[in-house]
Amino acid sequence: MTQKDSPFLIEEEKIKDRIKELALEIKRDYEGKRPLFVGILKGAFIFLADLVRAIDMDLEIDFLAVSSYGKFTETTGEVEILKDLQIPVKGRHVIIVEDIVDTGLTLKYIKDMILSRGPASLRICALLDKKERRRVDIDADYVGFSVPDRFLVGYGLDVAEKYRNLPYIKEIES
Ligand code: 5GP
Repeated sequence: MTQKDSPFLIEEEKIKDRIKELALEIKRDYEGKRPLFVGILKGAFIFLADLVRAIDMDLEIDFLAVSSYGKFTETTGEVEILKDLQIPVKGRHVIIVEDIVDTGLTLKYIKDMILSRGPASLRICALLDKKERRRVDIDADYVGFSVPDRFLVGYGLDVAEKYRNLPYIKEIES
């Protein structure tokens, strides 16, 4: 197999190192505030858990569970809220934590929904960014890794609920 054909991979150590950097950046940006981290279930649960443990400051955590239609690898932009937030976001400094931004449709829907509830500020932290697939104008403020247009699993990301528990991220055939 040539280098060009090797499956895309982000090793565990590389994820750990990048999370430390993101955590420092977020801590610096939110000094003196008490940000509310909103993890998007299920994909962001591992990333959120590692990220908040690396941020040494007062913060709060809540979860939003969504399902984007288009069962396997494609999203359609129709988003259903399966579990809403429990902590009110009005007046809060909110950071959405997402596993991957692909077309951006899911995130756009979530962002607009949270903005309509009047947060003091809203930023997005995404572990992975598949920029070339974007269909709506939305960008994460904090990005772990820019990734190519490949189907990725592991570290929270699944295919049919499999692979979420891998400590690294790898490409699979979609
Ligand atoms: P978007 O609405 O940005 O197209 O899709 C975002 C969601 O699609 C992600 O939160 C994730 O659930 C899923 N998704 C997009 N790309 C991938 C991928 O490469 N691997 C996996 N497992 N899910 C993906």
